[in-house]
Order: sequence, then structure tokens, then C-alpha cells
Amino acid sequence: MSDAKQLGFNTLQIHAGATPDPTTGARQTPIYQSTAYAFRDAEHAAKLFNLQEVGFIYSRLTNPTVAVLAERIATLEGGVGAVCCSSGHAAQIMALFPLMGPGKNVVASTRLYGGTITQFSQTIKRFGWTAKFVDFDDEAAVADAIDEDTRAVFCESIANPGGYITDIPAIAKIADAKGLPLIVDNTSATPYLCNPIELGATLVVHSTTKYLTGNGTVTGGCVVDSGKFDWSASDKFPSLSQPEPAYHGLVFHEALGPMAFTFHSIAIGLRDLGMTMNPQGAHYTLMGIETLSLRMERHVENAMELASWLEKDPRVEAVTYAGLPSSPYNDRVATVCPKGAGALFTVALKGGYDACIKLVDNLEIFSHVANLGDTRSLIIHSASTTHRQLTEEQQIKAGASPNVVRLSIGIEDVNDLKADLDQALAKAQ
Ligand SMILES: *Cc1c(COP(=O)(O)O)cnc(C)c1O
Repeated sequence: MSDAKQLGFNTLQIHAGATPDPTTGARQTPIYQSTAYAFRDAEHAAKLFNLQEVGFIYSRLTNPTVAVLAERIATLEGGVGAVCCSSGHAAQIMALFPLMGPGKNVVASTRLYGGTITQFSQTIKRFGWTAKFVDFDDEAAVADAIDEDTRAVFCESIANPGGYITDIPAIAKIADAKGLPLIVDNTSATPYLCNPIELGATLVVHSTTKYLTGNGTVTGGCVVDSGKFDWSASDKFPSLSQPEPAYHGLVFHEALGPMAFTFHSIAIGLRDLGMTMNPQGAHYTLMGIETLSLRMERHVENAMELASWLEKDPRVEAVTYAGLPSSPYNDRVATVCPKGAGALFTVALKGGYDACIKLVDNLEIFSHVANLGDTRSLIIHSASTTHRQLTEEQQIKAGASPNVVRLSIGIEDVNDLKADLDQALAKAQ
């Protein structure tokens, strides 16, 4: 797609990155189920290994099916390149890997996916990295948390599960002033609802497991680079701006310009960490992404209707959906996610913890699962599941208090979803 910029989202979600297979004419992107690729000759092989020519060597690094998906997501996000990974959590490590080092830290929002809080507060310590968690509504606190050893700022566009929208332009301004890249997890919003790069983000990460695939079939992740960050402006990013010992002294930024981050992620990140997406997984996600805009429109429409209805229900204490005028984040919808506030929200029940358990156990259409962003409607009691590893204080900060359930609204008929919630709420009394 040469003029990708001029085509609309609905066209790009189907066509970006893909052309009919040059050998067979296959119109759908084939699943290239091959580990290795024959070199034309020894010179071709040497050029590929020197990154002087782009091509396929070995599927831990790149694979033609996965490459179509990477280009499609990069195009939809308005980035210059992307690297697909085995899961959303893998994508987060892959995003931080070229930037961080022992003793370095990432300044992260307190309102993140529960698994990310655990990954950042515990597991990354094994690499000598740390995360400093800050309330991203407190801009002064974000700026104050940034120190000499900070290498990135991390937040979610629409944060799961508390109905929170990050003021991305404001946070991007802070990161920019400090010469740091802003990484935005755009999983809950998708590029259809939110474009973090347009709002100032450097990198965008995804769990493609969720809306991009859309039907709960495969795990995957992706890191998209805007290509806009100047890695050589300071000495903070030596893996990109100085000779990289892990790749025979190549200076990635000098050699590859705006593609430095993407090539580093493939040539070193995937090569040595091996968190690779497989071609079958990429195939499922490519199938899903073709209908992303249609699904997101219905997800948002259903979520808006159910959130408004639940908010008026006497059995309900509160609904946190940024699409509702009652939400403190409603005024950020127009700038951050103008096509809608997503389809995740939490409901606090007057009956507390016990009512939440009875509600999830009595629903018939909604499934009680630890997932989100599926075509089918899902519910989970976060405090006893996904956010179980957190302290009660962390749970409350993350919007996952014990009396709260999180809903991921699917694309079924909204009246059926309403009836299902109504009967289960009655039983939860
Ligand atoms: C699910 C999710 C992740 C983790 O992705 P996996 O594919 O499960 O590893 C990260 N961030 C957000 C917002 C998510 O919803």
C-alpha cells in the first residue's frame, strides 16, 4: 500500500500490508508455516544478516504472515513500523527492552491492567529495572517522579478496568520536556477509537489478544513505533544511539533512522528474547482486524446503552464508564477517543462483595472469564481474580474494589444483554 495515508480506516483494516501472494495469487494472506527461508546466494544471506536488505531468515525473527499483521497494525496506528510478539505482556517487555538497563526506571500510571502492575512492580526487578507508579491525573507528580534514571513513561489510553481516560496530550508534553519516550497501551481503545501517536505517544503497545483479534481465539501482542523520537538527542538510549555490542557494533539510529527501534526489536529483541508471534496466531488476528471498525462501533453502542441503563438501576451503586456524562473523564472523550469510550466498565453493587459473586454466578449470556475485548459479553469480579495479587489499596487505586464487577460488553443484541443482567441482578439481591 503505497498511499496508505490517503485511504480510510475501513479500507486499511482490510488491505494494509497485504497484496495477493506473488507466487499463487492467493487473495487471502497465506499462513506461511515455515521456520526458515532459502537464501538466493551467499551474498543475499550476508546482506540480510547485515540488515542491508530486508527479507526473511528465520521465523523467530520474521515471518511473512506475521509481517503483514505488523504492517497492518503500524498503518492503523500511524506508525512507521511494528513488531508482533507472543502476547501483550511480551510486547510490554519488548517495548521497554531497548530503552532500559539495570538501575533504570519507568514512570507508570497507577491505573493499569492488573497483570501489568504485577509485571512492573515485581517481575521487571529481576532485570534490574523498576517502575515508579504515579497518579497520572497529577501532572506535577508525574514530572517529579521522572529522574536521571527514568527511560520511559507508560500509561493506557482507556485504562482497564476503572473507566479512566489518560490525558495523553498532557502526559506527552511532560515526557517530551524531559526528553523521554511515552509508551501508551492502546489495547482497550484500539486504533479505531484512539490514536496515541497523533496525541504525542512515541510507542504504542497492544495485547492483540483482545479487540484486534476480537473473538477470544489467540494471544498476541504488538509494539508500534511512531518513528518520531530522536534517540540520539541524549546519551540515555545507548542501545539505539551508540554502537550496539549485541549486533557487531551497529549504530541502529544512524544506520536505520526512524526504523531504528523496530529493527532493534527484531534483530536483538526477538532474536535473543524469543517472544515471537507464530504465523497461525497472526492469521487469526488478521481475520479479526478486517472487521475492527464494525465491531468497535457496536461494542461502543451496546456499552453506552447498558451503562446508562445500569446507572439508573436502584440495585447499582455506581457505574464507571467514561462515555457517561457523570464520569469525571467524560470531557476527555472528545480529544482522546472521539469515536467512543470503549466497551469496558465497572459496576459497583449496593449488595457489596456477596452480590457481585451471585451476579457473576447467575448470568447466562455473559461469561465469567478473565478476558476482555471478545465479541461475546464477559464479566469478571476483578478483586477475586485478575487483581487478586494486588493489595486492597492497589485494587482500589486500579478501580477494582471488592464490591465491583467489570463488564466487557460484546456485540450481541443489547436487549438480550439487558434482560440477562436484569434477571441476575434480581437473584443477587
Ligand atoms: C490483556 C491485556 C494486557 C496483557 O496482554 P496478554 O495478551 O494477555 O499478555 C495488557 N494490557 C491490557 C490493557 C490488557 O487488556
